[in-house]
Amino acid sequence: MSATKDCPPRPRFAANAQRAAQLCAGLNEAQREAVTADDTPLLVLAGAGTGKTRVLTTRIAWLLASGRARAGQIMAVTFTNKAAQEMQQRVAALLAPAQEVPAPEEEDAHIPPPMQWLGTFHALSARMLRRHAELVGLSSQFTILDADDQRRLAKQVLQNAGLDEKRWPARALAAAIDSWKNKNYAPNTLPAQAASGFAGKARRLYADYQTRLKTLNGADFGDLIAHVVQIWQTHPDILAAQQARCPYLLVDEYQDTNTAQYLWLRLLAQKDKCLTCVGDDDQSIYGWRGAEVGNMLRFEKDFAPARIIRLERNYRSSHHILKAADGLIAANKKRLGKTLWTEQSGGARVQLSSCWDGETEARQIGDEVEALQHNGSALSDMAVLVRASAQMRAFEDRFLACDIAYRVIGGPRFYERAEIRDANAYLRLLQQPDDDLAFERIANRPRRGLGAQSLQKLHGLARQQQISLARAAALLADSDEWAAATRSALARFLQQLERWREQAARLPHTRLAELVLDESGYTAMWQADKSADAPGRLDNLKELIRSMEAFASLTEYLEHIALVMESEHNPQGDKISLMTLHAAKGLEFGIVFLPGWEEGLFPHARALAEKGEAALEEERRLAYVGLTRAKRRAYISYANSRRLHGSWQPAAPSRFLDELPPEHCETKDAPRPESYAPRTAPVLAEPEIVTFPSPAGGWQLRARVFHQKFGYGRIQHVDGSKLTVAFDKAGIKKVMDGFVQKADAV
Ligand code: ATP
Ligand code: MG
Repeated sequence: MSATKDCPPRPRFAANAQRAAQLCAGLNEAQREAVTADDTPLLVLAGAGTGKTRVLTTRIAWLLASGRARAGQIMAVTFTNKAAQEMQQRVAALLAPAQEVPAPEEEDAHIPPPMQWLGTFHALSARMLRRHAELVGLSSQFTILDADDQRRLAKQVLQNAGLDEKRWPARALAAAIDSWKNKNYAPNTLPAQAASGFAGKARRLYADYQTRLKTLNGADFGDLIAHVVQIWQTHPDILAAQQARCPYLLVDEYQDTNTAQYLWLRLLAQKDKCLTCVGDDDQSIYGWRGAEVGNMLRFEKDFAPARIIRLERNYRSSHHILKAADGLIAANKKRLGKTLWTEQSGGARVQLSSCWDGETEARQIGDEVEALQHNGSALSDMAVLVRASAQMRAFEDRFLACDIAYRVIGGPRFYERAEIRDANAYLRLLQQPDDDLAFERIANRPRRGLGAQSLQKLHGLARQQQISLARAAALLADSDEWAAATRSALARFLQQLERWREQAARLPHTRLAELVLDESGYTAMWQADKSADAPGRLDNLKELIRSMEAFASLTEYLEHIALVMESEHNPQGDKISLMTLHAAKGLEFGIVFLPGWEEGLFPHARALAEKGEAALEEERRLAYVGLTRAKRRAYISYANSRRLHGSWQPAAPSRFLDELPPEHCETKDAPRPESYAPRTAPVLAEPEIVTFPSPAGGWQLRARVFHQKFGYGRIQHVDGSKLTVAFDKAGIKKVMDGFVQKADAV
């Protein structure tokens, strides 16, 4: 039986054959085949930049133009709101009269969105769930909980079960529940191994969490998908109605679907099977969040009879960039393997460069951005893609200093992150005891028993007496207005503030900041946090301390922050984009900067420690995603040392650099460190007047040493673990002592 016959006859609508043909005019043969395919399940499996998203959007327009479907009958699913927005605009542009079709850059955001069922899995699910919420015990007005609410709920559940929160943190439970939902486990279907977690109480905790959610009339993100799947599984009539409403189903970035999303799709597609998925196994980068690339590999079997179309021509990147990315990803063992080619011969090689540290790297990239701008490139055509969000701070500061307009995509700007705002609030409070906003922000972070009610009381007193919150707190701490426990917590906090203020006069401001974060319990709060984003937040805090070194005092630093926060960006305008590699999925830019290719940072040490070889392959796919975002130019850089965990770490170049085919790359030699020593680096003293060896490493001045890369040399200066060495052949270099050996030991 042919697949077309599998599809029920459904009304056809007025066709515009000329328009349909026009849509296909610019496509290559394989793309055209995919766009105009019949209703058989179709998987477009192809490498980066081969036009998968273009095929998807053109197919939507073609289905409409050819009269196969009405807009309301097509459901298109993407992963991010940004991608959904772009897809709306692209379809709208494709449907505009031919002569008015704007180039992507000029796409008119005002074209009305033609597609009602185009969105992320979560947005579409929320909409469908509102219609049938009562079937899962909710009312249609249910609230969608954010991560904070989820944690609060998890905490209540843990307390209720009598589990020690230190041993079983609320964030760990919230994260576990999220991962169970991604796998579509309900409390009663939780596998034995997972159920044995949390002192053997995992199942009960999960069930309790769900019950409380119902009482609150709330759903968390995982629920949006899970509830819809459950409703469809238990109410065939509702599923059938949805299937009939939207028989056409199209999915972008299919490689990153998790089990629950996969089930969702499978249920919807099982009747008419008019399913078109596009994806690239080499770009699967969400395994850590439960994505199952196996879903894509099983497509043919699960949706039989299915077709697979491969696209091999890359339209995005120039020859060298494509070949460099190809060479890199070839090191992965678990992949389907693809051929990619481009007609864009020549072009610039991928540029590799090293620099002294993260600040210098930001400076070099800032300079290059200015030079490119000077030569006519638009900022909006450039992007800096980082592995870890803490890397962004150096770039934000540099761009602000040079007046380079930038936007951060997929997250707040560095100084707007919650943990950075918290830390700054502590520091502001030291400077200005009456700063009410700062006080309110951190009074109960970490928890000191000052809940909403206590704060309300505090506000009341402050208003009544016309004093600041901190002063009101001092009065209350000395009264019997509050429970003894709250009073003593408050008194302790106020004493701490006093002590830190005294210490502020004696300690360097960076040390003071560290002390405040440690003694207040703020750092410990994140250390105890087992959620996926906690380590990143701790890194951001360390990065914050590091960034403070550039300022002479706390006052100077806080002034800088006030200005940074002030320079509110207007969303329009020519700006360079700054984002994580994860957020860059599906996007493209003329010029791409990829900083921080160092072992430990990229591939990320934490990922490797947790998941080993599989994580390494995922990191490599991430590098592939990064490189393939570039159309004309790609710059990869690495620093010789990086301040990672509060201290300077010697950084070894990423193994990914060795995997790039050298014939497609060119190395730009970094200038000598002295000529661009960062403002924050210690000033080099004349070797003659330095007389102390490093107590830590026992390095003697003028000792002979050997360095793997630079060969033999003599130590000229010692600064902690940083050595300045006059190498016999390579000249004067600053190196980390972890990379040198005493010459007699070689
Ligand atoms: P990714 O894997 O990164 O998501 P993709 O396969 O979805 O990439 P697209 O973003 O659809 O690729 O296309 C990459 C670029 O190539 C876009 O600028 C797109 O407009 C262009 N392109 C795709 N097909 C063609 C074509 N037939 N002719 C000209 N340009 C094309
Ligand atoms: Mg795409």
